[in-house]
Amino acid sequence: MIPVLMTVDTEQDVAPYFASHEGLNYIPSLTALFEREKIQATFFVTGEIGEKHPEVFEHLEDHEIGCHGLHHELYGRKTPWLGKVHELSLGERKDCLVKATHLLERASHTEVKGFRAPYFQIDEATLTILEELGYGYDSSLYTYRYGWPFAVYHPASDDRLARGSMRLVEIPVSCDPFADEIGHPTLPSSRRHFRLNLTFLRLFGVDACIKAMENIKTFQDFLHLPPFFVFWMHSWELHPDPPWKNDPSVPAYLYWNCDTSFSLLESFIKEIKKRWKICFLTAPGALREMRI
Ligand SMILES: [Zn+2]
Repeated sequence: MIPVLMTVDTEQDVAPYFASHEGLNYIPSLTALFEREKIQATFFVTGEIGEKHPEVFEHLEDHEIGCHGLHHELYGRKTPWLGKVHELSLGERKDCLVKATHLLERASHTEVKGFRAPYFQIDEATLTILEELGYGYDSSLYTYRYGWPFAVYHPASDDRLARGSMRLVEIPVSCDPFADEIGHPTLPSSRRHFRLNLTFLRLFGVDACIKAMENIKTFQDFLHLPPFFVFWMHSWELHPDPPWKNDPSVPAYLYWNCDTSFSLLESFIKEIKKRWKICFLTAPGALREMRI
């Protein structure tokens, strides 16, 4: 069986542009779809949702809760596309993580052991803090560069992209190693690696995502790695009529085709089930399945 991790970044709408939480309204429909398709998923949730919207967790009881920061702040270096988002000191990062972990554990009545960095920006200092706090894994990197570990790995404390001796493991998000340059009218040039996520499903459709998975599996077979896939999405991508489409500062790929998110997701799930013998697992379940 090939483990597939469905991961859902559960956060404010199109961070850092909006502070609303309208996307949360679609979590019950998403978990109903997951139940129909026998999917156990991992929800990376911001701590503030644990505090302000504890009712969401009633729908997440069959799934894993991970941490996605406190208010979706930055845990690595600032890059130009992040606009007004600012960098935090190590002390501020640790405070946010301690608080977020507490709020999430209180709201979910479970232990939180996994982290996904907001904006997929993480550095070695944050990994060290996570390890100090008892986190077991991070899932904030992509598999998309040649030379980067393509499998689950223990990072080095001085180089997050190299294998080393940290206790926590990195679970990289799947990205097609062969499709470097893709184009879509709504997509900024910095986003042109084919990532296995709902955004690319919305922009390019089911067949393109299946093709990316075939390429990922071919590369894993070539490297003699156990096959696995990590798919990710945002809670707000499920909004069929997102109000942020009327805000000219929000890039169009953040709302393009959101009215088809549910039907695309359902078709995609059914199609990959037909194609491969897969099991949808939480991160701890997948690590056990892969004997890591
Ligand atoms: Zn996020």
